[in-house]
Amino acid sequence: MSRAKKPAVAGEAIHYRIAAADPHAHLFEVTLRVSEPDADGQILALPAWIPGSYMIREFARHIVSISGRCGTRPVRITKIDKHTWLAERVSEPLVVEYTVYAWDLSVRAAHLDATHGFLNASSVCLRAIGQEARPCTVDLIAPPTPIGQNWRVATTLPEDGAKRYGFGRYRAADYDALIDHPIEMGRFAIASFEAGGAEHEIAVTGQSDVDLARLTRDLAPLCAAQAALFEPTTQRAPFDRYLFLTTAVGEGYGGLEHRDSTALLCGRSDLPFAGMRNQSEGYRGFLGLASHEYFHAWHVKRIKPAAFVRYDLDQEVYTRLLWIFEGFTSYYDDLMLVRSGLISRDDYLTLLGKTISGVLRGPGRQVQSVADSSFDAWVKYYRQDENSPNSIVSYYAKGALVALAIDLAVRARTNGQASLDDAMRLLWQRHGVGFYSSQGGPGAAQSGLAEDGFASALREATGVSLGAALNRWVEGTEELPLAKLFAPLGVTLKLTAPDASPSLGVRLAMRSGDLAIASAYSGGAAQRAGLSAGDLLLACDGLRIDEKALKGLLSRRQPGDTVVLHAFRRDELMRFEVQLDAPAASEASLVAAAGPNTLREDWLSAVSRKARAARRPARVRA
Ligand SMILES: [Zn+2]
Repeated sequence: MSRAKKPAVAGEAIHYRIAAADPHAHLFEVTLRVSEPDADGQILALPAWIPGSYMIREFARHIVSISGRCGTRPVRITKIDKHTWLAERVSEPLVVEYTVYAWDLSVRAAHLDATHGFLNASSVCLRAIGQEARPCTVDLIAPPTPIGQNWRVATTLPEDGAKRYGFGRYRAADYDALIDHPIEMGRFAIASFEAGGAEHEIAVTGQSDVDLARLTRDLAPLCAAQAALFEPTTQRAPFDRYLFLTTAVGEGYGGLEHRDSTALLCGRSDLPFAGMRNQSEGYRGFLGLASHEYFHAWHVKRIKPAAFVRYDLDQEVYTRLLWIFEGFTSYYDDLMLVRSGLISRDDYLTLLGKTISGVLRGPGRQVQSVADSSFDAWVKYYRQDENSPNSIVSYYAKGALVALAIDLAVRARTNGQASLDDAMRLLWQRHGVGFYSSQGGPGAAQSGLAEDGFASALREATGVSLGAALNRWVEGTEELPLAKLFAPLGVTLKLTAPDASPSLGVRLAMRSGDLAIASAYSGGAAQRAGLSAGDLLLACDGLRIDEKALKGLLSRRQPGDTVVLHAFRRDELMRFEVQLDAPAASEASLVAAAGPNTLREDWLSAVSRKARAARRPARVRA
């Protein structure tokens, strides 16, 4: 019996047909069928943003043309705001046909050419307002031959007739699920492994000589360690299947988390190749990225800020907690690499030192707290400009350091009996477990973490109240007391100047062959002398300069010396007398003392003493 002859069932209330129709023009052709359109006229909209990336992106600007019909009769579609349309009232199923321009090679939107297609449904599938909770089906149609020959599909959308990796019919429990399973189509390489009781796959798109066996060998223990962190008893992941969708390009870096998958973008040289002996820095970065996005499957895709439990896709959704959801994830991403044996302890301390240095280099840490940075992510962190180093602190990097500070403080105060891991497990049990009901979206009882809920959760999970100190770290701008917190672990934090030369207080960049000031740091030597971001530097003390020559000249000066810089601003030649500063001690290095330290051992080990004890089988009474 063909599906068409069956009476309309809930599963077919909303149906999309997505055809990779014109790869050369980068156009998807989409047909949306709404079985029971709103009696007052059906409103249709594309999300203004994609969850996980906190910026208004107006995906609807890429809808090129749109029309409606009911049977063969045309239906008027009126645009009512930048991303919303109104279809006139019809009493029969409404069919809407539209084309979407897909030429955004990021993990956030859609991309289509003759080599592959990638899409987030948030860029391609109009949502029928009022019907978001209804299940939907999606038919994926390959490009015309010969382009589409041997193309396959990789997605964690459940198959609904399509074969694994095949074109054909998939389904989603609701609109929220539909936009949370990105889709790759093309001639990717794919490999699979088991971890945490779940099937895992990694698909790699783009020409590369990737060593898939090495990738799966490395990712398996990493994934297993994360599942064991949240579920030390069962060690099970909260999904049956997980997919790493990876696109390898010349140069690129990015990732976006989803409930059962992640979309990753990386440089092809960052992937391991057959015969690669050492772990390259690029590959370590790739593993850190994979670790970060995978951690999000628990933390932000299931444990959520209360504001994210049901997203408003039309506008910004504010929370002051991204330092927890992105910062803690950034803390655990590299930590899980060392805990699962993928990097050495020395390598881990080096990576952590880099994070500390990165935060110390930005004067913005002295004016913005991580909570404020979280709230303003939409207009500040995601929309950076030349003044951002002076005005923004990263809720990723400083959030990771706040996580570190909390973890170290709890470990020291409880003599290693408790840690941030315990707080993660409590958040998981309280907010994360079973987040997605079998019917799709969050169960009615699901709640997220309240804006003021973390301190009490930490106290409950660990017995430690960090009180006013925690508040200062999160809401304040003073430096974190990391050196003091590291002491009980036998780790010394050293701060030195990155180089001995006196400082101009600028970040430099090449602009069309000219040496330019990208940012002038607050209160720095250049800014005090009147130099600005955008100024093109020509000469220092009468000598023509490029970056190397400038560095050489500065290395012969002392802090307090004055140099004369010539620069163009708006094509006008200007002269500046700059009194040089002493270089700031912003380079952090962490050194572990020789000899054993139980606290440090526990911190960097996969399973803490406490969890080991908990895992011992209980004695059965005779
Ligand atoms: Zn993240």
